[in-house]
Amino acid sequence: MDPDALYQDIVDKYSRHINPGLAKLMAFAGFGLEVRAEGCHIYDHEGRKYLDCLGGYGVFALGHKHPKVVEAVKRQLDLMPLSGKAFFNGPQADLAEKLSSVAPEGLEFTFFSNSGTEAVEAALKFAKAATGREKIVSTVGGYHGKTIGALATTGREKYRTPFTPLMPGVDYVPYGDLDAAREALNGHAAAMIVEPIQGEGGIIVPPKGYLPGLRTACDEASALLIVDEVQTGLARTGAMFGSDHEGVRPDLMTLAKALGGGVMPIGATMGTAKVWEAVFGPNPLVHTSTFGGGELACAAGLAAIQVVEEEGLVERSRVRGVQLKALLEGVRERHADLVTAVRGVGLMIGVEFAMDEVGELTIVQMLKRGVCAAYTLNNPRVIRFEPPLIISEEQVAQAADAFSEALLETKELLAAVA
Ligand SMILES: *Cc1c(COP(=O)(O)O)cnc(C)c1O
Repeated sequence: MDPDALYQDIVDKYSRHINPGLAKLMAFAGFGLEVRAEGCHIYDHEGRKYLDCLGGYGVFALGHKHPKVVEAVKRQLDLMPLSGKAFFNGPQADLAEKLSSVAPEGLEFTFFSNSGTEAVEAALKFAKAATGREKIVSTVGGYHGKTIGALATTGREKYRTPFTPLMPGVDYVPYGDLDAAREALNGHAAAMIVEPIQGEGGIIVPPKGYLPGLRTACDEASALLIVDEVQTGLARTGAMFGSDHEGVRPDLMTLAKALGGGVMPIGATMGTAKVWEAVFGPNPLVHTSTFGGGELACAAGLAAIQVVEEEGLVERSRVRGVQLKALLEGVRERHADLVTAVRGVGLMIGVEFAMDEVGELTIVQMLKRGVCAAYTLNNPRVIRFEPPLIISEEQVAQAADAFSEALLETKELLAAVA
């Protein structure tokens, strides 16, 4: 089939069998059919090459199709793709051990699932079981997934309203506000769930001392601290975990996105011995998952962490992040009327615009210039740069140039319709 016909065929199938509104939205923004991806690049049906600055919302920390992860998964595929649950499973044990060696101190145990939202569901259940309490404190603008429990803690009404009633007992406090958190926790809460940096909320960096402050507040209220590192985990923010920047030790920590090495889906909920004893002590089967901890996913996870270590991705994320942020800051200074803020840590950077439409138009224009980015789910005024951590100095410059040109073009378009 010729490329255009192939593209049209796929868009039609999306419209008829997947999601008509989404098909329209993606086609309008100019997203083609992704046929191949490697390293920092995505290739569409017409053979066009895009620098991936979205990075699958944090999935592609190692880039696309990292050879070491692909190799580990292929080896496992030939050996045994999926085992029954009755026997011990080697890759799961190896990954759990590796995770406990890199995670913040005290997180010795891991429960494996298949996605971020499942990792959050488990954390919420464990917090309730371990404390015997019900109330969960979350943050306005926080994003923790879209299954019923996780959605109840996701701080944007638009996603919750059609599905109420959700899990009851969730309080929302403003992100970054320690006093509000302290007050909410003191009402007999089971846990506080929080992202080290709000991702979908618009790449919001909390004030220094926020996470350590929450740690203390949770201790004082005998509540647990759940740090959701689904997006920030595995070197994204220039530290192995977002919690590491200020040496915070959560009681529970969730991981997913980057943990699959950009090859396999996986979710992980890590916790302390104390939490595990309370949850699984009375009943080792109290929480289970048929596919969670599958051999292929765990082989990918182990390889992914090894690559993060071998290729120094923590340091690269930090250094390239400083470079990208400085370049974007330069663009902001030249276009202060349109760009109101550049913020982030490591290679998790957000650019905030003065008006809603600017982000969407700029994304379209960037795509035309061979760079893909996207806005944050809970805050369409913010576009995010979350490229693979293996991105080079030249590629960072290319991304910033494309952004600058796209913004100029957007400005002209807006002036023309004004
Ligand atoms: C993406 C995300 C989730 C949900 O993960 P899914 O795999 O999409 O279910 C949860 N928490 C955070 C912080 C996320 O960024």
